[in-house]
Amino acid sequence: MQGLMMNTPLLVSSILRHAERNFPEREIVSITADDPTHRYSYRDCCRRTRQLANALDKLGIAKGDRIATLAWNDYRHLEAYYAIGGAGYVCHTLNPRLFPEQLVFIINHAEDQWIITDPMFLPLLEKLAPQTPGVKGYIVLSDEAHMPETTLANTVCYEALIADCDDKYDWPELDENEAVGLCYTSGTTGNPKGVLYSHRSTLLHAYACNTPDALGLSNRDSMLPVVPLFHVNAWGTPFSALMVGAKIVFPGPKMGDGEALYQLMEAEKVTVALGVPTVWLALLQYAEKAGKKLNSLQRTVIGGAALPRSMIRAFRDKHDVVTCQGWGMTEMSPVGTVNTLKAGMEDLAGEELVKLKAKAGRGLFGVEMRIVDDAGTELPWDGVAFGALQVRGPWVCSGYFKLDDCGESHSDDGWFNTGDVATIDAEGYLNITDRTKDVIKSGGEWISSIEIENVAVGHPDIAEAAVIGVKHPKWSERPLLIVVKSEGRNPERDEILKYLDGKIASWWVPDDVVFVDEIPHTATGKILKTKLREQFAEFTFA
Ligand code: ADP
Repeated sequence: MQGLMMNTPLLVSSILRHAERNFPEREIVSITADDPTHRYSYRDCCRRTRQLANALDKLGIAKGDRIATLAWNDYRHLEAYYAIGGAGYVCHTLNPRLFPEQLVFIINHAEDQWIITDPMFLPLLEKLAPQTPGVKGYIVLSDEAHMPETTLANTVCYEALIADCDDKYDWPELDENEAVGLCYTSGTTGNPKGVLYSHRSTLLHAYACNTPDALGLSNRDSMLPVVPLFHVNAWGTPFSALMVGAKIVFPGPKMGDGEALYQLMEAEKVTVALGVPTVWLALLQYAEKAGKKLNSLQRTVIGGAALPRSMIRAFRDKHDVVTCQGWGMTEMSPVGTVNTLKAGMEDLAGEELVKLKAKAGRGLFGVEMRIVDDAGTELPWDGVAFGALQVRGPWVCSGYFKLDDCGESHSDDGWFNTGDVATIDAEGYLNITDRTKDVIKSGGEWISSIEIENVAVGHPDIAEAAVIGVKHPKWSERPLLIVVKSEGRNPERDEILKYLDGKIASWWVPDDVVFVDEIPHTATGKILKTKLREQFAEFTFA
């Protein structure tokens, strides 16, 4: 027998309606190229979003078509998110840090019809234009006074475009399974792959993120997403924040600037901030140098890469800030786990607490996890067994955009292969030990490169560390530690190895240390191990 409840579709436009009705005065603060102190209300945001939706309808493209954005985190980008998705188009966020040839590939693959761009990316788009003939025009996120010169054909000014449009718009009643957003994985090997989010998956993900043991956003929060809107929808925060009416503080292009982030946090009384470990390093370094304390910040959500223990300690001991590590991926919208404490753990303190906080966290309701061995047999949740991590749930991808053969992306019984290797402990806390492709196998046993890197960056003279496996005549592979020294410091090989001794299993201690000026990164800031392996392909242990 069927239930008798309304079958109301879960649509992003419904978030907008709820936000406007319930939190019209809530603020959205942004740094933009044309205004470093822009602030307006949810009411203004919703009104302008409707104007933009009217403007998009006049472009004469079909519903379901892709409209791309190439922009930093600010209020106009947020309006674009909701207008595109709400009106029934698909918002394709482009990452400006990708290589030009990758951008060309994904713009063409997505068949982007228009690109909404920050003025500073016009020179990049001018270069790409001859290879992206399908793009019909460009909307520049600017007012008329700040419109730059460009050689691009069919370029319109955002403010001029929406100024003429009606601020009434009837959001269409779409099928909740229709696509709303498109995001490509950065693809360290092969072409990037498109993950196509639906309205339903986006809303369920935002609901789950707002639960207290996940991101726990509330109306009383002032939230700073330092994770870019072009990187997996800033972890869904544009949707979760408007659902609860949190104040939003957008850093614009000032993402990696420790001082600017500090000042923004203090001025706007930010209570929760989200980003990858690298941006927090810049903030903590600035605070340390300037002798400043973070006064309003209560918690940071840190994901995208392993959270170093030294960072957990610095936030806690110097700033009274709780770190919540999260794990996820583009294919998962992206949040899969968040590290919050369980009942009975309230008294954990000191290094015991750091140890727990260094794990990736517990699965949200909606994301089922399992770890399996090479034969696909499920492994126990004992915190010891390493296995390939698989997930399934309503905001996990079932395939890739316009890719009939998704290869090994899913198991025969329909679970998504994350490509991560992990342990899960008896309390359900996930610990990522490696990407499958980065695993080091020494004498038949796995060594976690992430764990060694995490301990190594705790050394005050080490700015960044990467561990790769290098061929070894006896053990088949042994770990090599690659180090970027901290500014003005000069650590010695033997002293570093001694530092690691006792902090990790003795047979995990790398066989050698090499010093480099720079470690290569992907467009989303992750260590590019394929490149390091190429670089050290000829390396032999003495
Ligand atoms: P890309 O950055 O290449 O676009 P994603 O952002 O989807 O890809 O990256 C997902 C991957 O990032 C995960 O599969 C995992 O390897 C890594 N990752 C994310 N969060 C964590 C974490 N907390 N600890 C360790 N690795 C993480």
